[in-house]
Amino acid sequence: MDALTGGDATGAPPAAFVPDCLFCRIVAGEIPADVVRDSGRTLAFRDISPQAPTHVLVVTKDHHANTAALTAANPELASVLLAEAVAVAVMEGVAESGYRLVLNTGSQGGQTVDHVHVHVLGGRHMTWPPG
Ligand code: 5GP
Ligand code: ZN
Repeated sequence: MDALTGGDATGAPPAAFVPDCLFCRIVAGEIPADVVRDSGRTLAFRDISPQAPTHVLVVTKDHHANTAALTAANPELASVLLAEAVAVAVMEGVAESGYRLVLNTGSQGGQTVDHVHVHVLGGRHMTWPPG
C-alpha cells in the first residue's frame, strides 16, 4: 500500500469498502457496534475497550487507511471527520470540561486498525506526555 495515498502500488485509488477491514465491516453493519452518531459520511461508535468515561471512535464510511491517506485523497472529508469528532464531544457532554482527540497513525503511532479513526476521549483529566 502507498503510505501517502492509501492506494496500491498500481496507483489505483483506495477502495471504499475493504472486506477484511474491521471498521468497514462495522460501517456495513456486519459487526455490531454501539453507534452514537451517523452523519451520512462518518459513523461514531463506542470503543470496545474504553480508556476514559467517554471513548468514542469516529470513522469515515469510506475506507482510508490512515490520516495521511485520507488527507491526500479527500481533505474535505478530513475536515468533516474532525467536525464530527467535535460534535460527538458536545453530544457526550464533555465539550465544556475538555477532551482529547487522538489520531494514531502507523505502527509507532499506535495504530492497530488500518481504517482512519478519531478517538474522542473525555470525562477524566488527561495526562501529558502520552505513553
Ligand atoms: P487504534 O489502536 O488503531 O488507534 O484504535 C483502534 C481502537 O479500536 C482501539 O481503541 C480498540 O479498542 C478499538 N476496537 C478494536 N476492535 C473493536 C471492535 O470490534 N469494536 C469496537 N467498537 N472497537 C474496537
Ligand atoms: Zn476500512
